[in-house]
Amino acid sequence: MAGRAEHTGNTPDPPATPDTPGTPDPPGAPDPTGSPGPTGTREAEDKAATKAEAEAEAADTGDAKGTKATKGSTAADRLTVYRGKRHFGRTREPAGGPAAGGPGGAGGAPRFVVQIHDASTLHFDFRLEVDGVLKSWSVPKGPSTDPHDKRLAMPTEDHPLEYRGFEGVIPDGEYGAGTVIVWDEGSYHPLSRKRKGRTRSFQESLADGHIAFRLDGSKLHGGYALTRFRGGPDSGERESWLLVKEQDDRAGRRGTPDARRARSVLSGRTLRQVAAEEGGGHRERG
Ligand code: MN
Repeated sequence: MAGRAEHTGNTPDPPATPDTPGTPDPPGAPDPTGSPGPTGTREAEDKAATKAEAEAEAADTGDAKGTKATKGSTAADRLTVYRGKRHFGRTREPAGGPAAGGPGGAGGAPRFVVQIHDASTLHFDFRLEVDGVLKSWSVPKGPSTDPHDKRLAMPTEDHPLEYRGFEGVIPDGEYGAGTVIVWDEGSYHPLSRKRKGRTRSFQESLADGHIAFRLDGSKLHGGYALTRFRGGPDSGERESWLLVKEQDDRAGRRGTPDARRARSVLSGRTLRQVAAEEGGGHRERG
């Protein structure tokens, strides 16, 4: 417990590791950057996408129901799926209070958070505050600073705003069992876009399957886009999205840091340190 006061949110992550050869990001999707797609065979591409999806599924989601039937519901309603998956007497994850209202609570900019979650499969969770909840995607390989990287992002159930500060160990036997650190957090600025000559709200763009936003975090900065390339309303198919860095002055070649070496922006700790410090005493399953 002692001796981590010196850690601050500014602790840099270790250098990025390159993507593992042979596991390309899933292509075959609309390319928001306009750059030419990868050159692999179609079959190899499909296999890679299928594998990444299976990993995302195993990592976090359980089922896809959480991403459906949210139209017209309140923020409180939309946490029903989240709450239904968890036992709050056992996990220290927040149950979430009543709906918080508009973006940013007291008139501030809306917030985002990126957590690293060492569950059955190690993955990143990318969450944006929209309408009083955290819209959430499981991103197996994490966000990249390189606009050439197209990172698979599988929608998961809406999370309460309080989840933004959650870091700790979800006990064995509970949904998402494993260690969570808050890798990055901050505010974001929705970038408006037009469709058929009309400016769409951020919520409309989300329903359309394409949002763009500027992140102002401790680690992530600049424009990003999330684009749905499979599934969607009335398709009956599980939704798949891509998270891609926009080409701007914050783009770079650093890629994504090694999730096992990356440090929490809140406590400076790695996954291993959080597991060691908080994992032991929370096993009672009464
Ligand atoms: Mn997760």
